[in-house]
Amino acid sequence: MYKKLFIPGPVDVRPEILEAFATPMIGHRTKDISALQERISMGLQKLFFTGNTIILSTSSGTGLMEGAVRSFTAKRAVVFSVGAFGNRWAQLAEGNGVPVDKVEVTWGMPTLPEVVDEYLATGKYDVFTVTHNETSTGVMNDLKAISQIRKKYPDVFWLVDAVSSMGGVKIEVDKLGIDVCITSTQKCLGLPPGMSVASVTDKAIEYAKDVKNRGCYFDYVELYKFVKEKPYQYPSTPSIPHMYGLDKQLDYILNQEGLENRFARHAAMAETVRQWAIKKGFEILAAEGYRSNTVTTIKNTKGLSVADLNKKLGQQGYSISNGYGSLKEKTFRIAHMADRKPEELQALLDILNKEIE
Ligand SMILES: *Cc1c(COP(=O)(O)O)cnc(C)c1O
Repeated sequence: MYKKLFIPGPVDVRPEILEAFATPMIGHRTKDISALQERISMGLQKLFFTGNTIILSTSSGTGLMEGAVRSFTAKRAVVFSVGAFGNRWAQLAEGNGVPVDKVEVTWGMPTLPEVVDEYLATGKYDVFTVTHNETSTGVMNDLKAISQIRKKYPDVFWLVDAVSSMGGVKIEVDKLGIDVCITSTQKCLGLPPGMSVASVTDKAIEYAKDVKNRGCYFDYVELYKFVKEKPYQYPSTPSIPHMYGLDKQLDYILNQEGLENRFARHAAMAETVRQWAIKKGFEILAAEGYRSNTVTTIKNTKGLSVADLNKKLGQQGYSISNGYGSLKEKTFRIAHMADRKPEELQALLDILNKEIE
């Protein structure tokens, strides 16, 4: 019944982490929970390469995306979209009555810094959003190049969706100057779904204090206040099991596997999948130079039935992903993220070799 998941979230979770989820509860207004949240925050700061405040949210990543676009936009936001999750930023803004412009590229293409420059130069915006790793198309944007342009506009807040890359790819939040960087637990972090994390600058919080109608549950000012003043608590009752799991997993990532090893493992697995796809006669959807290290979107140039292929894989205990939305049968996706091992990936590719001519 349970298959090895090569889908871009949720990912397989190590048994040790699942066990941590079964730890007995503690009160959410105790010293112990503050100590736990502080420890998690310090670990996450290392993972994010940031000194910024870490906030947790008992929701999937979309909740913190909604909260961010709502909390930091007083004037108008511009969303640079390279696929389905980029479009989500615009939907979230619209759904909350936040003025927004969407700049979308042909799927497979990245967000180019000169385009960001062009829009920010208008002076119309106080927020811009970028998807670091677009899970629908397998495009990984060049945050460094965008950060160079952004230096010209220090007062426009930069929100980054790093949901499917943080923990698998090095993202140096402070060096890049990202104001809000968001991720979810069920992708590269290797935990069950249900919690998300963001780093946020003090400057952005100061600005948000004057933004009206920030909502309540995902109000960044409130989430920040509880970290600073309580300290290290959560406005309502958090998913304490996720906190236990994160604590354990961060120790594993930082002190057992090591960050550089983890990033290198993701890069190597991505290279393996790309080479396999090309050797097999497929094409990669993402433009050269912008190919994701955590998920590969392969063009179904052979006209396979992706649904049938997945059925056959399922019988052998494996699962890959079909294309996203309009790309459903036109592409298929192989995720290579979280704690997946190269030899497990190879086993999948061996089966695919048998199933595909
Ligand atoms: C999965 C994903 C999301 C949505 O995150 P949830 O945790 O499912 O809300 C947003 N952006 C990207 C790039 C994703 O891969």
